[in-house]
Amino acid sequence: MNQSAGFPKTWTHTHDPFRVFYGDPIPQEETISGMADTPKTILIFAAHPDDCDVACGGSSAKWASQGHRVILCVATNGEKGSEDPEMTPERLVQIREPEQREAAAIMGIQEVIFLPNRDGTLEDTYEFRGQIVRLIRKYRPDRVLTHNPYRWQHRDHRMTGRVTLDAAYPYARDRLHYPELEGEGITPHKVAEVYLFGGLGDDGEADVEEDITEFAETKLKALACHVSQFGPAEEVRKRWRARWEERSKNGDGRLTEHFKRVEFRV
Ligand SMILES: [Zn+2]
Repeated sequence: MNQSAGFPKTWTHTHDPFRVFYGDPIPQEETISGMADTPKTILIFAAHPDDCDVACGGSSAKWASQGHRVILCVATNGEKGSEDPEMTPERLVQIREPEQREAAAIMGIQEVIFLPNRDGTLEDTYEFRGQIVRLIRKYRPDRVLTHNPYRWQHRDHRMTGRVTLDAAYPYARDRLHYPELEGEGITPHKVAEVYLFGGLGDDGEADVEEDITEFAETKLKALACHVSQFGPAEEVRKRWRARWEERSKNGDGRLTEHFKRVEFRV
C-alpha cells in the first residue's frame, strides 16, 4: 500500500487521542501498510449510500485494483436524502440502494451490506454496536475505514464513526461481548488500524495521503451513479472534479484522498 512520505514510522505523540497504543509501536513491516504484496481485507463503514464514494472512492478502487478485498457496509437506508417534494422514503430507498451497488461495482468493491437502520436515526446503542461487531468478526478486516467522529458533520456520520471505533476496540476483540456470535461460529477479531475520513481540516490532522490520480475517472464514474443525490452525470463530473482539485491542493496535478490513522496494538 502506498503511503505518503509523511506517514509516521515512529510514534511519539502519545497525547494524541487519535493514536491508541499499548506497549511498543508496531514495526512498520508488521502493519498492513508494510505488507503491500499480501492481499488484505478492508472493511468500510459509511453512514449513507454515496458517503464511501465521496470520501474514499478513489482509494477503494486503488486498493481493489491492487488485489485487496474491499467490502462496504452502509449503516442506514438513506431514505431522507431528497428535496424532491414528490419523493417518498420508500421510493428513495429503492433508488439509492441500486445506485450504491452500481457505484461499488465500478470501484471494484466486492460486497455491499446495508444495515437495517433508518436514515437519521443512528444512536450509540448496544444493538448498532452489535451490528458492526458482527461484521468485523465475520469479515476479519486488516483495515477498517469510517467517518471521523470528532469533527462536526452529519449526525449519522458522527454516530457511525464513534460506534465503529468502539466496535473495533474493544468489542470485536473481546469474546465476552456479544457472546451469542460465538454460537454462530463468528469469533473475536483484532482490528489493527482504522482510517478516519471526513472533517479533516487543513491543519495537518490527516496523516495518510493516498494518491488516486490514476483512479480519478473511476471515482467520478462512481459518483455519477448517485443521480438521486448529485443530479445528471455530466454535472457531477464538472462539479466534483473542481471541488476535489481544490481540496487536494497538491499543486502538482496529483489528486489525493486523506485519512487520519488510528492504530490499535491490543
Ligand atoms: Zn452521509
